[in-house]
Amino acid sequence: MPAARTRAAQAPPVEELPLHALALTELSGVGPARAAKLAQLGVGSVHELLCVLPRRLERASAPCTLAQARAQASLCAREGSEDLPDEEDADELEPVASCRVQGTVVRQRFSRFGARSLLRVAIADGAESLELLFFNQPWLRERFRPGDVVEAEGRPAWAKGPALVVRRLGGASAPLPAPGTLTPVYPGTEGLSQDMLRALCRKALEQFGARVREPLPADLLAEHGLLALPEAVRELHEPRDEARHERARERLALEPLLALRASLEARRRERARTSALVVRVDERVESEIRGLFPFTFTAGQGAIARTLREDLERGHPMRRLLQGDVGSGKTALGAYACLLAARAGAQAAFLAPTELLAEQHLRGLAPLFARAGLRTALLSGSLPTRERRATQAALERGEIDVVFGTHALFSDAVRFARLGLAVIDEQHRFGVAQRERLFDKGRDVHGLLMTATPIPRSLALTVYGDLDVSTLREKPPGRSPVRTRRVLSPRELVDELEPRLERGERVYWVVPRIESGEEDEVGATERHARIAQGRWARHGVELVHGKLDAAEREERLARFRRGTSGVLVATTVIEVGVDVPEATAIVIESAERLGLAQLHQLRGRVGRGSAQSACYLMGKRSAAARLELLERTDDGFEIAEADLAQRGMGDLLGLRQAGENREGIVSDEVDLGLFELARKLCERSPGLLDAYSGRRRLS
Ligand code: ADP
Ligand code: MG
Repeated sequence: MPAARTRAAQAPPVEELPLHALALTELSGVGPARAAKLAQLGVGSVHELLCVLPRRLERASAPCTLAQARAQASLCAREGSEDLPDEEDADELEPVASCRVQGTVVRQRFSRFGARSLLRVAIADGAESLELLFFNQPWLRERFRPGDVVEAEGRPAWAKGPALVVRRLGGASAPLPAPGTLTPVYPGTEGLSQDMLRALCRKALEQFGARVREPLPADLLAEHGLLALPEAVRELHEPRDEARHERARERLALEPLLALRASLEARRRERARTSALVVRVDERVESEIRGLFPFTFTAGQGAIARTLREDLERGHPMRRLLQGDVGSGKTALGAYACLLAARAGAQAAFLAPTELLAEQHLRGLAPLFARAGLRTALLSGSLPTRERRATQAALERGEIDVVFGTHALFSDAVRFARLGLAVIDEQHRFGVAQRERLFDKGRDVHGLLMTATPIPRSLALTVYGDLDVSTLREKPPGRSPVRTRRVLSPRELVDELEPRLERGERVYWVVPRIESGEEDEVGATERHARIAQGRWARHGVELVHGKLDAAEREERLARFRRGTSGVLVATTVIEVGVDVPEATAIVIESAERLGLAQLHQLRGRVGRGSAQSACYLMGKRSAAARLELLERTDDGFEIAEADLAQRGMGDLLGLRQAGENREGIVSDEVDLGLFELARKLCERSPGLLDAYSGRRRLS
């Protein structure tokens, strides 16, 4: 009890709390139940309620006569219908989406169909009459008495006679808004009506509107034509005109971007104050490490290697994002960082999103690490329990220097003796929280994040604001671009692919779904069966997909890698990372099922050797624009930007896929211009970061 009293005494009074720290229950009329409903809309504080964006504005229409409404309704009558109306001039009429009428209640009829219901209320005005329809609002039965005067606004319809599907109802005590008035329409949720939401927003304005503060300096607002936050919030819920409302939305859309940048910047500053393992290697050791690789680094790789070395020497935790197109040679840099960390006596973890990729990284890099005298191991979900336990024990005793693994590495059962570095490949496949769990397994662990999905700079600065970004642009020498072509049917490919197989080159055949579907969509299993029975049987045909057990999948892949088999039919499990330089052609079926970035990643499976490689795309017409773009360019950066435009940022960043949307900011509506604006504002006004940081969501 005394403890509770002390805490209450320390908490600042409600009048002093900032609005984002003010619970909704501080609003009069909002109790826990209503607050829970609002939470379903993502609204947790008074500030968030004030910032709820209406979906659109509705302009109250001018009233029309019942005769005019009848004429509109008759336009909706099905042609050739028995009871076609005989209203005059019907075909000269412009149909309207909404009518507003007034009349006197004559009678009503109510009917139920299972859980649904329909109330029909006939109103009249002199000689004319019209039916008002109310679907699924049985309680309204009690509302109408013959002789009542009602106002209604809704959509004209034909229901065995002229009718109006009512959206808003007015009466003597609560008339409809005056014609021309704008009303916000909010995103809906069950149990919270539009009227209720409007009332809540208005109440929040009334009670707390005067406490909204604008953190941006006035001159910056003016320069960018932005509405100040207090006015913007008011305009949002009590709109004056459409243009001003648009400006209000823009100002509000900036809020989460500024808050996100501030929190990421705060994280970056925090890191600069934290100490971490100092990795210092001299020139001799460095060139020894480079000598372990079977190739010399490209100029781009060399520059990034130097940056990594500087990062690791600095004594603060590194957080570097390495962006580089598919096949640009990021793995080698990941391995290089591991070698440096191991030299300083630390353990390193190399994380990949799929078992296939983790296994391949281990297989490819194990000899290199062995030459350096380092011990490696694999940790993935499908390892037999005993083996997994043994590996975990060895990690904990510090007997493994570099561990390769999948999500299994996040498990609490995985502990390290001295984790100093985590390399996260295809990092966009993981959530931020997941990454942090891995970093938390050591003290101030260095992190290198790698991705083949580059994003425009202004976006990167906001979404990855806590990271340093390096970009690998060139590819290893001797690569020629992959020739990409659309084809209509597998038959066209027989002659194209045959000579490649004869020369001992390999062919991937990607089919997104395992089983065949409707509309003659062939699944991977069936495609494999057809090819394996055809003339390519003698080259060996393998099938891999996500449902195979790991050992079997690995065996099949090994036969393909060795060349015992020439054709690999696969689902998108091979999307990331699979590296077989002898593979020179890839066929992708049902391409309409895959996004641009994904198609580009898949195409990146070929063109990894010096031989001219080819990519053949088959897909429905709906995918034509995407496939044309792929035919035209091989540049991952250009493709990422187009993907951004086509699909929205959530998909591009893989945030949705990772079950995470950095604080809800990455909606498809947010456009790049806004990110650019947020960047400019933060650069011009450093004080902003303090104004926004430290905001936490109430939970
Ligand atoms: P990604 O960037 O897509 O992860 P990888 O790291 O898988 O690309 O590299 C693609 C291929 O290029 C691999 O076969 C790798 O061995 C090879 N490679 C990487 N760097 C070089 C280099 N400097 N010279 C020659 N080949 C290289
Ligand atoms: Mg890779």
